[in-house]
Amino acid sequence: MKTGNVEYTAFSGWVDPPSDVLPSLTGDLTCEVAVVGGGIGGMSTALRLAERGQDVVLLEAEFCGHGASSRNAGQLAGAPGGDLQLLDLLYRKKMPGMIRLAEHAAYHVEDLIKKHDIDCDYEQTGNVFAAVSRGQLGRVRRVAKLLRRVGADVELGTSEELGIPRGFLGGMREKIGGIMNPGRFTLGLRRALLRTPARVFEQTKVTDVAHDRGQVVLSTPWGEVRADKVVLATNAYAGEWDITPPRLSVPIWVIEVETEPIDPARLAALGWTSRSGLVTQHNIMENYRLTPRGTIVFGVRRLERGRTYPLPQKAPDPALVEELAGAFATRFPALSDVAVDRAWGGWIAITSSWLPIAGQLDDSTYYSIACNGHGLAQAPYVGSLIADLIVDGERHEDLEELWREEPEFPRPMMMSPLGLRTVWLVDRFNDFVNGSRRNARRGVAP
Ligand SMILES: Cc1cc2nc3c(=O)[nH]c(=O)nc-3n(C[C@H](O)[C@H](O)[C@H](O)COP(=O)(O)OP(=O)(O)OC[C@H]3O[C@@H](n4cnc5c(N)ncnc54)[C@H](O)[C@@H]3O)c2cc1C
Repeated sequence: MKTGNVEYTAFSGWVDPPSDVLPSLTGDLTCEVAVVGGGIGGMSTALRLAERGQDVVLLEAEFCGHGASSRNAGQLAGAPGGDLQLLDLLYRKKMPGMIRLAEHAAYHVEDLIKKHDIDCDYEQTGNVFAAVSRGQLGRVRRVAKLLRRVGADVELGTSEELGIPRGFLGGMREKIGGIMNPGRFTLGLRRALLRTPARVFEQTKVTDVAHDRGQVVLSTPWGEVRADKVVLATNAYAGEWDITPPRLSVPIWVIEVETEPIDPARLAALGWTSRSGLVTQHNIMENYRLTPRGTIVFGVRRLERGRTYPLPQKAPDPALVEELAGAFATRFPALSDVAVDRAWGGWIAITSSWLPIAGQLDDSTYYSIACNGHGLAQAPYVGSLIADLIVDGERHEDLEELWREEPEFPRPMMMSPLGLRTVWLVDRFNDFVNGSRRNARRGVAP
């Protein structure tokens, strides 16, 4: 695969930043609810609050959609993130609720797209847990069994049966969800928010959160917001503040890469008739998906831990793009001559439990980390549930599932740079063994 002329961008390959970035807050103001962070989580919270008649202010450091929301792979998942077998082992009682939450979250985003008429190329294709080895096929079958046990609607099959490329051995389709252009979804949500009476300030970084006389006081460089309640929706960036509970989440950098446009006949020859997004069953997944512009977007495979705040705004490391291109050529041998056109990355938040979480730091401060790489569905849903909680004073049963009474979190496992490197090495060792077996079957010398 050719990686000579890659456009490395520090934003997203899906869309350009909005041309009408709003001015910073200058001066002081008061409101009922302030939302900090204008990703799909924060914007959905503010949108719902405004729709429900609250006087809401949203403060965003750059522009709404600047974070992971515009940068992700656009695979709207109907199942939770993480290793589902491990989650089932650790939190068996919680699994039915987590699956229900994930499914409702995907439906919620589909409803948002319809309600606000967001043109984001959404295709209701489901997503496939795709196996690249017999070991991964076994894993997929076990995951399918546990998902069926808790009532999820999944379909097991060979690559032909699932309509996925023949380079994969088969897999399991989670039927709910699909693929979209996440940049256009995010900017569509921004437009919907800007049509409400919510007051939105971009280029307004919140530098401190304090309490004074029963109100929350948010400091920004040129003004102060006093609110009765505040929702912190800053995702991976949350660790910047002292008020963030220790170990709430770990910021992790992941990347996506897009091919050049591929000849339609060559794409058709792949047998990818379902157009479902794919995630492999490595410990650190690879994801692959088609786009309406005749390209394939693919990524992740390596997780890089952020070490210092503020998190840097950066473009992908060319060495990782090379590595992902190598993986692409293995999964799609017929396209190994295709070039990479662009690459970008973003920060996600991984919780120590690998479960989405939400809670209150005190009577007036709400937070949520509904991500673990699956926030495209879950962040907007949890955001709107928090908005409803603020208005109604009651927690929806789905919010109850991830609610933390005490903001205390254990140290995350395997999330140190060494731990992440070890997990990556295990994946590469398994790939090597599987590659050797495949070659032996084909009679190719090692
Ligand atoms: C490369 C990549 C691929 C992914 N693929 C998928 C996928 O296919 N499917 C899926 O479900 N999920 C995926 N995700 C995860 C998904 O994008 C996130 O879970 C989701 O976007 C989180 O939304 P959010 O609103 O919580 O956070 P973000 O979009 O990160 O928004 C947080 C916002 O807060 C702002 N902010 C931070 N600090 C401050 C401050 N002090 N003051 C004011 N504003 C502040 C930031 O500028 C940012 O705009 C992926 C993520 C990445 C990076």
